Amino acid sequence: MEKIKCLILGGGPAGFTAAIYASRANLSPVLYEGIQPGGQLTTTTIVENFPGFPGGVDANNLMDSMREQARSFGADIRQGTATQADLGNRPFKVVIDGETELEAETLIIATGAQARYLGLPSEEKYKGSGVSACATCDGFFFRKKTVAVVGGGDTACEEALYLAGLAKKVYMIVRRDVFRASRIMQEKVLAKDNIEVLWNCNTQEVLGDGWSVTGARLLRKDGTVFDIEIDGFFLAIGHAPASALFAPWLMLDEAGYIITEGKTSCTSVPGVFAAGDVQDPRYRQAVTAAASGCMAARDAEKFLIEQNS
Ligand code: NDP
Repeated sequence: MEKIKCLILGGGPAGFTAAIYASRANLSPVLYEGIQPGGQLTTTTIVENFPGFPGGVDANNLMDSMREQARSFGADIRQGTATQADLGNRPFKVVIDGETELEAETLIIATGAQARYLGLPSEEKYKGSGVSACATCDGFFFRKKTVAVVGGGDTACEEALYLAGLAKKVYMIVRRDVFRASRIMQEKVLAKDNIEVLWNCNTQEVLGDGWSVTGARLLRKDGTVFDIEIDGFFLAIGHAPASALFAPWLMLDEAGYIITEGKTSCTSVPGVFAAGDVQDPRYRQAVTAAASGCMAARDAEKFLIEQNS
């Protein structure tokens, strides 16, 4: 069985940054990229808020550069997804794609999270052409336009407020007659002149001209069906962290995010660290994920030094 000093799961900004730091610290990291090589960022086009790129950067190019940078320091980056994990004892046992068994002295979990979508075929069709699950990433493309945000939680309110600062008008499509969001967020949304809340509404279809979004067809609880004209359709109905494999071993919060200790990447199992969106319900940005990947590699290095001394 292959023995690995530092095993990293996840090929997004958190995983690659952890690999850069771990390889420079001589931890000979092995990184498995998982189901979505490059991570969630590769579902967007241009990233305009990653520091260092004043003209923006293509999301796939950014991830290719991170991968290449990690490789240049000797990180062993492989394709494959962890399908089993036993974190009961060190070394930890991890199985990749149901067949490759590994033993890891330290494990960095950077498996990310997936934004939830409604599951409509029309939503899938216009992903990246008006349908987005990240206002901070894509809102800028909708300056002075009309957009809709689906959801009534804190994220939806935050995204609607952010978009209201850029767009001409923001609709919020809320499926009940109340928000789930905190009172303060609700008040901020309701005080905004250019946000209109459409209560008791569900989206039946995202409308488009074959190239980009032009509207949405909504069904109100009383049975009325009506269309709104929009240029952008933003989902804010929650995220699902990719933590299920580790649930028997690690402390997770009620939404499934891995709990880390204070301002560290340490999980409830010594030697296992978590970085990026799998442990971050709040910020979920490429730059914060990258930063937490750095923390995880530093924590793994410190852990190994302490174990060996
Ligand atoms: P939440 O689970 O809190 O809210 C999800 C929202 O989406 C709810 O309004 C829910 O409706 C709605 N929704 C879910 N599924 C569907 C669907 N299929 N169709 C239509 N609407 C749907 O997720 P958030 O991402 O908003 O927040 C996650 C956590 O992060 C929360 O604890 C939140 O408080 C926290 N957070 C805090 C922030 C802050 O403090 N500034 C900012 C952002 C998030 P319903 O209510 O009917 O279930």
